[in-house]
Amino acid sequence: HCGQKPDPTTGAIVPPIYQASTFVQEGVGENKGFMYARSQNPTRSMLEESIAALEGTKHGLAFASGMAAINTVVQMLSSGDHIVCPTSVYGGTFRIIEFVYKQFGITADYVELQDLGNVKKAIKPNTKFIWVESPANPLMTCCDIAAIADIAHENGLKMVVDNTFATPYFQQPAKLGADIIIHSTTKYLGGHSDIIGGAVCTSDEKCQERLAFCQNAVGAVPGPMDCWLTIRGIKTLKVRMREHAENAMAVAQYLEAHPKVKKVYYPGLPSHPQHEIAKKQMSGFGGMLSMDLGVDFDGANRFLKGVELFSLGESLGSVKSLTCLPARMTHASMTQEARDRAGITDSLIRVSVGIEHKDDLIEDLEQALSRV
Ligand code: PLP
Repeated sequence: HCGQKPDPTTGAIVPPIYQASTFVQEGVGENKGFMYARSQNPTRSMLEESIAALEGTKHGLAFASGMAAINTVVQMLSSGDHIVCPTSVYGGTFRIIEFVYKQFGITADYVELQDLGNVKKAIKPNTKFIWVESPANPLMTCCDIAAIADIAHENGLKMVVDNTFATPYFQQPAKLGADIIIHSTTKYLGGHSDIIGGAVCTSDEKCQERLAFCQNAVGAVPGPMDCWLTIRGIKTLKVRMREHAENAMAVAQYLEAHPKVKKVYYPGLPSHPQHEIAKKQMSGFGGMLSMDLGVDFDGANRFLKGVELFSLGESLGSVKSLTCLPARMTHASMTQEARDRAGITDSLIRVSVGIEHKDDLIEDLEQALSRV
């Protein structure tokens, strides 16, 4: 219900899409809180209020994409500042830091955040952020958000969490000590593969002031139609996430027992290296998993072409199940050596488990695995 009050003019239970760039002012300095839609738009304000409520933060800001949200967070830094990042950080975050911000003197080191010793060692006198993703692509690596928040705060740093994979339904980083939370709303919050969007949440007034300033100054804001679709997606987040997680667990258990599957990575499985951490900080394990078929690229491709309900695609978090081959798709820009080190083989397949009937999903996996 947050940000979802009935329209005051008509009583419409679904608030309208305010498709307007300009808001008429009664006199100079006299307005209804809206002047120009890059700065504020009522549909966007509703979405911002809704996302902040989900994350349990005071403030939420909506952006034109997850990358626009990430860009704005990095823009809080100055030349000479440093970020501690996970080795498994989303490729677009790596790209913007290394190939956009490095030339302006902002640098990062990439470490395995599951080991808290690595986090402490990576902090430099000029470090400003510890950046976390948990679970992270493509092996669903989890790290201890509360413990890393403590390390960040002991060192006077801000902790940033990209909560895209978990969603606020299963994990609320602000309650674990995170200062800034990021979303690609393109994924589970939108939930239907029909929008590109991003969000940043915080309860820190200084952070909010700078983030809101940059949101307006840079102007990477979402249009009202995309905000409205995201609001609509959020209304079913609970029911979708329960279904995603239940299906993912069923699929993970099925795959783990299958003789043609070498390894399954799902934080809900006791065999996952960070299962205990996931259990401690998540109320459910989400809809993302990966499996290694232990074959070559051709074998993996036979499986990917063989599935009928699962579509091959770069994104995740939609009601429809998707597959992806990280080595040739999301992680193709990594060197072979780096992929080998990270365990990203040519037959590691990432699966975004949708909300189809789980028996249908398993039947489809069964017939596709028989082709490998
Ligand atoms: N963060 C994570 C974890 C992602 O997976 C993605 C996209 O895949 C992004 C951020 C970037 O979001 P967008 O594609 O909406 O710009």
